[in-house]
Amino acid sequence: CGIVGIVGLQPVSERLVDALKRLEYRGYDSAGVATITEGALHRRRAEGKLVNLEKRLKDEPLSGTIGIGHTRWATHGASTERNAHPHFTDGVAVVHNGIIENFAELKDELTAAGAKFQTDTDTEVVSHLLARHRREGMTRQEAMRAMLKRVKGAYALAILFEDDPSTIMAARNGPPLAIGHGDSEMFLGSDAIALAPFTNEITYLIDGDWAVISNTGAHIFDFDGDPVERARQTSIAAA
Ligand code: GLU
Repeated sequence: CGIVGIVGLQPVSERLVDALKRLEYRGYDSAGVATITEGALHRRRAEGKLVNLEKRLKDEPLSGTIGIGHTRWATHGASTERNAHPHFTDGVAVVHNGIIENFAELKDELTAAGAKFQTDTDTEVVSHLLARHRREGMTRQEAMRAMLKRVKGAYALAILFEDDPSTIMAARNGPPLAIGHGDSEMFLGSDAIALAPFTNEITYLIDGDWAVISNTGAHIFDFDGDPVERARQTSIAAA
């Protein structure tokens, strides 16, 4: 139900949880964060309140200067730790707000091709599609475009590819998603309120947009893959 992301130079996991706390007002039933550290994806997830995730992170800290986080309001699949985002498939990590309407059809197709699903969520088809497209030889950006052509429904997505520890990918069709511009760091969030402690310089994606975000800036594309410019604005959300 809430998404955050940070790509920068400083450790991110605690800051991701702090940003998620600012999205608590939206409601949620589980939460999780993922980072890339030492060349591999790692995650911590917990059922229930963010204090449970915080406790997990205290017991098992998560390093890394790039990461994504999520608070989940379950629509498909029980609100268990197993179904909590981020979902991992073969070096791809995904968090999602919304509903993938055609997930059942995609899941059948992917399962028939050998995919093993680890959750009961609609979301997991996204990580499986991306992983499949990478195996087929597509670049990360080609895989994003191909995946976005297959999924129907409402989504805000944040994605990490293990083989690129300097980039967060994002996509929006429905639920809001904002890119935050920092100083040698870039941010992603469901709204400017989540990002207010980090920056008030915000670029909102519009429906059909997807983005490639590094610590120096963001490249935004439309549904057809053409580069687009979106206005940068100064948010009045209070830190
Ligand atoms: N439909 C997804 C799920 O049930 C995402 C729900 C959300 O927006 O948090 O896991």
